[in-house]
Amino acid sequence: MPLVEIRNVSKIYHLGGEEIRALDDVSLDINVGEFISIIGPSGSGKSTLMHILGCLDSPSKGTIKLDGVMIEDASQRQLATMRNQKIGFVFQFFNLLPKLNVLQNVELPMIYSGVSGKERRARAMTALEAVDLANRSKHRPSQLSGGQQQRVAIARALVNNPRIVFADEPTGNLDSHTGEAILSLFRKLSTEGRTIVLVTHDPEIAAVTPRRIEIRDGKIAVKVDLTLAGLDRQAKIGEPQPQVKL
Ligand code: ADP
Ligand code: MG
Repeated sequence: MPLVEIRNVSKIYHLGGEEIRALDDVSLDINVGEFISIIGPSGSGKSTLMHILGCLDSPSKGTIKLDGVMIEDASQRQLATMRNQKIGFVFQFFNLLPKLNVLQNVELPMIYSGVSGKERRARAMTALEAVDLANRSKHRPSQLSGGQQQRVAIARALVNNPRIVFADEPTGNLDSHTGEAILSLFRKLSTEGRTIVLVTHDPEIAAVTPRRIEIRDGKIAVKVDLTLAGLDRQAKIGEPQPQVKL
């Protein structure tokens, strides 16, 4: 069943008289339980696509259906409610609030959704246990490593039990070893049935997800299998031929 459906979505920015087509007629379905990556070079439109899929931004043209609800002309307030209840976000720079401790950071989405104090604390602790950080609940973000901060951000993304989690370059600010641990955590969440969208410019990271969507210049790229198309041979024309010894 599609959890998010977008149809013919374009996003056009106007900057100093110039028109920038950040997304150009994109249609895409994401199904319940999928683990999918959106991959493409810097500036190709990945974040714009994620912001639209995640109701952080609205398209210039086209439609979005999230969890069976058509989102048309939703007010900022309606979009905020939709995000709070249905969507979790993880960002490259963690976006934790420095003056709050770990537990309070994880509790934040529940404050916006009106959960009682006692239940907030209990659910935040459960989310911290899921990312193996229950023993750091009283720390400030600055007292944690980058990988730990990202795990707190993941706990915060999960605490309202969202239908879908979006992660925009979640390992982009981590060393490769720590990045791998974060990817393992997403993989584990996926096997538990979470729907997860990973946004990355790195093919090695995209390789961890069963489905990949490649985006180029605001469009979903049609993948050509070079070998099947015979293009691998064409690519070699002009290269020096190997010397064959008889
Ligand atoms: P990516 O995440 O793949 O690096 P983005 O989605 O951030 O790419 O950007 C896609 C294109 O849209 C880029 O050319 C970028 O400069 C442009 N863009 C993104 N946000 C804005 C904005 N708020 N105003 C104008 N142009 C923007
Ligand atoms: Mg981006």
